[in-house]
Amino acid sequence: MFEKVLISLPSNTLNSSSDFNMIYVALFFTLIILFVGLRNKSKNTRESKIIPTEWNEILEKHVRFYQLLNAEEKQLFQEQMRVFLDEIYIDAVQFELEEVDRVFVAASAIIPVFRFRNWQYTNITGVIIYPDNFNENLGFGSDSEDRWIAGMVGTGKYENQMLLSRKALHHGFKNKTDKRNTGIHEFIHLLDKTDGNIDGIPHNFLGQEYIIPWLNLMHQGMEAINKDQSDLRNYGGTKQAEFFTVASEYFFERPKLLRRKHPDLYAMLERCYDPYKSE
Ligand SMILES: [Zn+2]
Repeated sequence: MFEKVLISLPSNTLNSSSDFNMIYVALFFTLIILFVGLRNKSKNTRESKIIPTEWNEILEKHVRFYQLLNAEEKQLFQEQMRVFLDEIYIDAVQFELEEVDRVFVAASAIIPVFRFRNWQYTNITGVIIYPDNFNENLGFGSDSEDRWIAGMVGTGKYENQMLLSRKALHHGFKNKTDKRNTGIHEFIHLLDKTDGNIDGIPHNFLGQEYIIPWLNLMHQGMEAINKDQSDLRNYGGTKQAEFFTVASEYFFERPKLLRRKHPDLYAMLERCYDPYKSE
């Protein structure tokens, strides 16, 4: 009897105290989860509603693609910009970042993918902006002859980062006739990169049946550039990846002109960037 009590008493005590502790532990963690959840919810709700009014002013003034959207699409465009800017960081080297820089980076990112559904960039975490062009060592020294790069998709230790010249980024939106936009150019390289190769063949955005026709079109286009018989800029003749981006810049900057002058190229790029148009 004595022995039984001795055995059962501590055992019962232990069980009930352990249950009691477990209830406290569970309650404690539930409260923490609730607290963190509520905090995040209020943070997200608060952030998702804030789109600075100056975004619309900047976009209306400088971004042709945006100007051509209807009111509902403009709202969606800004919403997609906000989601993009929530996900990536922007660093400014030797200058103070302004809202217009953020707007131009986000617009460059959203323009090429605006007609896709539920697109999210997965191969970029940040954008580093230099005040002007920079060199291949990413230096921004005093020797201006050295600085010839306006933008690039980072590799190696800069993997998943994009480097942009602020001057080139602004020029891309402020000059409306030159069919050129460095920001859009670099984001198109990122789209090209999603299949593993920056090679001018957008496997993820063109159906398999269009790859050969696209290669033919691209090679004809590069040949015309290199024979000085094209209004696409010379850089597009250097390699396939650059032809794809240079032609795409033209598509987004001067769509009507491209459709008139290069209807086949226009049709192929429209298939790539506006895949649901015929629906
Ligand atoms: Zn390029």
